[in-house]
Amino acid sequence: MRKKTQLIHGGVSRDPYTGAVSIPIYQASTYKQDGVGNFKYEYARTGNPTREALEKLIADLEGGARGFAFASGMAAITATVQLFRAGDHLLVTDDVYGGTFRVMDKIFSRFGVDVSFVDTSDPETVSKSVRPETKAIFIETPTNPLLKITNLEAISGIAKENGLKLIVDNTFSTPYWQNPIAHGADIVLHSATKYLGGHSDVVAGLVVAKDEQLGEELHFVQNSTGGVLAPHDSWLLIRGIKTLGIRMEEIEKNTEEVVRFLTGHDAVGKVYYPGLTDHPGHDVHQKQAGGFGGMISFTVESQEKALSLLEKVRYFTLAESLGAVESLISIPSLMTHASIPKERRHELGIEDGLVRISVGLEDPLDLVEDLEQALAANEIHV
Ligand SMILES: *Cc1c(COP(=O)(O)O)cnc(C)c1O
Repeated sequence: MRKKTQLIHGGVSRDPYTGAVSIPIYQASTYKQDGVGNFKYEYARTGNPTREALEKLIADLEGGARGFAFASGMAAITATVQLFRAGDHLLVTDDVYGGTFRVMDKIFSRFGVDVSFVDTSDPETVSKSVRPETKAIFIETPTNPLLKITNLEAISGIAKENGLKLIVDNTFSTPYWQNPIAHGADIVLHSATKYLGGHSDVVAGLVVAKDEQLGEELHFVQNSTGGVLAPHDSWLLIRGIKTLGIRMEEIEKNTEEVVRFLTGHDAVGKVYYPGLTDHPGHDVHQKQAGGFGGMISFTVESQEKALSLLEKVRYFTLAESLGAVESLISIPSLMTHASIPKERRHELGIEDGLVRISVGLEDPLDLVEDLEQALAANEIHV
């Protein structure tokens, strides 16, 4: 089955009980048992038919054995890290999502899980950072906000050599463009709040395990700790995922137009986009993913100019988050990455004048004209 078909017919594509083509929202917390221990479903934290339809769908889309839906991307990441124990060490991409940095640095450190943040775009650095107690490598590719690329096959080779699990946060590329399990990953996870939901109306997280054994371990954590996704939100996600293919294709075209405009503008410094041939990860990304995605970061002269740009745009909504039908704009140093200490931010290259945009589904001409007028107004005022 090809991707666009799988988005619609993967998982449980119609309700086995009624034939309904939209999986019903099974809003029930418990289920009548035919006799003690004789049941299809027991209690909705353990399993719910609507959530299960979504879980099977994401497992199919990522080419894994089992899928799990959580109340947020952070709950999905938390459950994944709960596979490990005190004394274990993890290697994590250095410019990882701010919330992932925070939960590792401030919460999991309390439980004795030790983390090193390393530049995973350089396999040699990863190899050198492995310790006897290292248990997993956790990566994002492309990263947020600098769109750095990690070579999935190179890192999965290092993971295999050292008996480590490879965990990939695939939020930015989505299963439509990139399937890390096919490149050797053990676990793939998503903030489904972003492209998978796609309409800025649901907060959710998904995890896919490569094989049944890891799947059992994850289900044990999910059921024990309970951060499950509600039936209505599961239904919203299934609905969003059906159009993921056409959304990603169209976002790709819009993004190309915006990148072309930005790279030619005098008031714009660096433009970070993996689709640019001079992007250091361009070739690697092209080999492991089908598209470059809708995230662009670029620099303007200062934080003041970035702030003024944000004030003047009309079609880019000033907001955290990404991956929605509406284009969003933000200043990472003041917003998504504010929880990372300033010195660390600068080390990572997250300058104060860095602007991040998530390109949506508006007409690309409107998006370009909007940025054009906002950048021009910027010049006059300063
Ligand atoms: C948003 C995001 C998360 C966290 O997900 P929530 O749904 O906000 O909890 C994790 N990883 C990446 C790459 C993200 O963009």
